[in-house]
Amino acid sequence: MKQNSYFQQSQDFKCRDHPENLALFWCRSKDCNENRIFCLNCQKQNKHIQHYNEDVLSIHELTQFLINQSRLPKNLIEECQLQQQSTIKSFDKLISGLSYKFCGIEDKLNQFNHYQTQQALDSLIKFDEFKNHMKNNILGRLNKFQKILDDLFIKLELHLIQYQITDEQIEFNKQEQQKAI
Ligand SMILES: [Zn+2]
Ligand SMILES: [Zn+2]
Repeated sequence: MKQNSYFQQSQDFKCRDHPENLALFWCRSKDCNENRIFCLNCQKQNKHIQHYNEDVLSIHELTQFLINQSRLPKNLIEECQLQQQSTIKSFDKLISGLSYKFCGIEDKLNQFNHYQTQQALDSLIKFDEFKNHMKNNILGRLNKFQKILDDLFIKLELHLIQYQITDEQIEFNKQEQQKAI
């Protein structure tokens, strides 16, 4: 029933370019830069002529399309969450192993036997080599990767989604974003 009331609303859309007219069509072409929800006037102006047959549909089909499409991204988001959790797990494991290998031996040194001292010495002599590897191959890459994630956030304008968050929240997000740059 709820779907129906949304459906009714979509019937009353006005055309952005001709606010006196009801919108009767919508366009799903990925490459289209025209107003996507449009009236008969627009159609007569042939704004979507290049892809009219394949991509222009009746306004009655819009709500169902939005519902169907909004179900698709869930899998990708779940995949992101799983990858994020498993990356954090690996990083945690590495950090705790490193602290174990390189730190906290001061209090135990006098109890070490010859073999343990030899091992600790070997680890600590090789620390610099390991440090370079860690900085160049792990931290450097993670830093670049983090920048890619932040850039994607901006590119998709995830802080300005008008159909999901209030105007105040959008204003607040804009300011936060400015501070972060
Ligand atoms: Zn129009
Ligand atoms: Zn179009």
